[in-house]
Amino acid sequence: MKVVVIGAGYAGTLAANRLARKVKSAQITMISPRPDFVERIRLHQHIAGTGTAATPLASMLHRSITARIGTVEKIGDGTVALDDGGSIDFDYALLAVGSTVTPMHRTVPVGTWESAERARAALASLPSGATVTVIGGGPTGIETAAEVAGARPDLRVRLVGTSVAGSFSDAARQRIRAGLQRLNAEVIDDDVTEVSAGAGQFEGTVHLQSGAEFTSDLTLWAVVSGTPDLATRSGLEVNPEGRAVVDEFLRSVSDNRIFVIGDCAAVPGARPACQTATPQASHAANALVRLAQGRTPKPHSTRYVARAISLGRRDAVVQFTRRDDSVRRSFASGAAAVVLKEVASGGAKWVARIGPNI
Ligand SMILES: Cc1cc2nc3c(=O)[nH]c(=O)nc-3n(C[C@H](O)[C@H](O)[C@H](O)COP(=O)(O)OP(=O)(O)OC[C@H]3O[C@@H](n4cnc5c(N)ncnc54)[C@H](O)[C@@H]3O)c2cc1C
Repeated sequence: MKVVVIGAGYAGTLAANRLARKVKSAQITMISPRPDFVERIRLHQHIAGTGTAATPLASMLHRSITARIGTVEKIGDGTVALDDGGSIDFDYALLAVGSTVTPMHRTVPVGTWESAERARAALASLPSGATVTVIGGGPTGIETAAEVAGARPDLRVRLVGTSVAGSFSDAARQRIRAGLQRLNAEVIDDDVTEVSAGAGQFEGTVHLQSGAEFTSDLTLWAVVSGTPDLATRSGLEVNPEGRAVVDEFLRSVSDNRIFVIGDCAAVPGARPACQTATPQASHAANALVRLAQGRTPKPHSTRYVARAISLGRRDAVVQFTRRDDSVRRSFASGAAAVVLKEVASGGAKWVARIGPNI
């Protein structure tokens, strides 16, 4: 069985490792644009200088997996074409290219490794008293604003977004806002319409929907939206957001040799998260094990337990959820939540490396 895994994030790495352990005869090639496994959920730490997000990919992969550094340009009929002109044939492919960002002009996005590197360098060069603006009221924006405020109390940090922490319960949302306030991160409940040019490389004026404006020495785009267009370019059926449409077994509805997992898969009821990507990856690997044994795959079902958000290194909020991801009233905060969040973050990397059945 020849298997090509496209994308070495949480989903691709877990699936490749699980399959390698379960099917010794599988010839697995992992394609990654860089020689590192990037812990995307630690990119805000990487930017603020409070943690590292890159681990050599070789140390994450089972010894039988062949790593190929490159980017897949197109998936064809049982073959993938790479940007270096090469191609690799497959019996099965795992499409795990994650999600991407479309930043507003004159902002630096936090959601990819390359842009996080730029943001880290720009932040490190800011003098005391400078203003950092983080755009995006979702978990990525909140975590980024809190991390920067905690690491650089000498800066003025502003988080701009509508419905900040909107996916949390009322009480958890208030707790998140209180945590941001404690870190002196100002929350501006508004929409950014434009960032116009300023004098310096990253300096600009942030214009808000309400008509207000202020200058910002560095503006970070913390909205994760969209999907790499590989599925679209390859002629696979996608939803309006560009995610590949899958059947109940996580196979592309256009080509049942291609399993789609993680942020780039359009799975009803699923949100982009490690908590989504890792069980999908485990499931897809199990499906390939069954196919290798001449059995039929089992359908996948999505389930959730919590949403965790860090507020710097000393505070966090963990919102407990029902199986269908609707929020419960209960949540944890403070030291207990810091431990839970760290277990979840470290655990996501650990399961990617070990490839358990989850
Ligand atoms: C700052 C931040 C904080 C977050 N915090 C949390 C959190 O606390 N909890 C949580 O559950 N989720 C969190 N998320 C979301 C989480 O990171 C994603 O849901 C998760 O990474 C999805 O895993 P994945 O394997 O689908 O994609 P990714 O981890 O994004 O991996 C996809 C990989 O595919 C590669 N790739 C893309 N195109 C190609 C191509 N054409 N060829 C080859 N390779 C390609 C990419 O470079 C990338 O390495 C956070 C995200 C960000 C940005």
